[in-house]
Amino acid sequence: MEEALKRKAILTLGGPVKLPEGFELPCRISNSTAGPGAGFGSAVFSFDGYRVKKSISYDSGEFELVVGKRGKLSLTRRGKQFITRVEIVPVVRHCPEQAFFNLDPRCIYGCAYCTSPVLDPSMDKHLSTDSIMEMMEESESQYDVKAVSLTSGVVGDVDSTVARFIDVVKSVRSKYPDMPIGVEPYVSSREHIQMLKDAGADEIKLNLETPRRDIFSKACPDLNFDDIWALLADAVDIFGRGRVISNIIYGMGETDADLDMAMERMCRMGVLPGLRALRVNDLNRTRLVKAGIRSEPVSPERALRLAEMQKRVMNRHGLTTETSITMCFECKCCDIVPFRDF
Ligand code: SF4
Ligand code: SF4
Repeated sequence: MEEALKRKAILTLGGPVKLPEGFELPCRISNSTAGPGAGFGSAVFSFDGYRVKKSISYDSGEFELVVGKRGKLSLTRRGKQFITRVEIVPVVRHCPEQAFFNLDPRCIYGCAYCTSPVLDPSMDKHLSTDSIMEMMEESESQYDVKAVSLTSGVVGDVDSTVARFIDVVKSVRSKYPDMPIGVEPYVSSREHIQMLKDAGADEIKLNLETPRRDIFSKACPDLNFDDIWALLADAVDIFGRGRVISNIIYGMGETDADLDMAMERMCRMGVLPGLRALRVNDLNRTRLVKAGIRSEPVSPERALRLAEMQKRVMNRHGLTTETSITMCFECKCCDIVPFRDF
């Protein structure tokens, strides 16, 4: 496997990037309220065709950005040369090239690994449909926006949260008829999925979160494992093969064989499995322990091995991440993405 891809795995799973004192990013910092970097200021670094979103700090970090002659940027790792040339990629909204909005980071559920609901409430950006449309216009005037992606916690109840998604999807669709729209909602019925499709969404992500029922009941005590499988089947009926994605988080005590089986089942249904290494941080560490989750550090070797497995399973079923043109497969900043990174 290519050396640069190994470095992507190390960078993706490693600690923050320390910036030189006084260094000003050439673009604005992303303050995300969803995804592995939620709650931390971050920036996107690209090298050798890969890109990685990293938490940044002026105090300390496993990696350090070095500014060389004529502004050439490189990264060191624990004081040693690591990547000889990096660039900092502008973030449109949360990630490069996409306007990705978290409609509401609050959530009535309490998944142990999830940092969104425990963020400082001041980080809630109170995104109304109107403010999203204004931000879209601003983004469109500055960047070539390739897709709009939406996620949200569940606020109040599932019906009203799905209604929020629908309102935003309809507005985006009416103003931007050709814009790919991806949604990552929590849904509880086939009707919810149909309504999102009818509103104009092109892709849907319904996350299984973990391949094992016993881990699921500890990590997501408020959610139902079997319901998610049933809803994934409904989603493929409605959105089509290769237009339904499901994230599986690993590093919570499951084996590679557990992941292989879950991915095989998904691909047989026409669902694209997304693999995401668990990131343990100050916002979720205690909650994971309290939930009885045996979290374990994910090595770059395991991440690469699983990404190869993910590619093999998809290949067996004629699936590819390239049919997904919104959200995380398109972004590629937090995971090793088969068919795109290798
Ligand atoms: S349903 Fe779980 S993973 Fe999703 S936002 Fe709520 S707590 Fe987080
Ligand atoms: S890969 Fe997904 S979670 Fe990570 S920055 Fe991109 S869109 Fe966000």
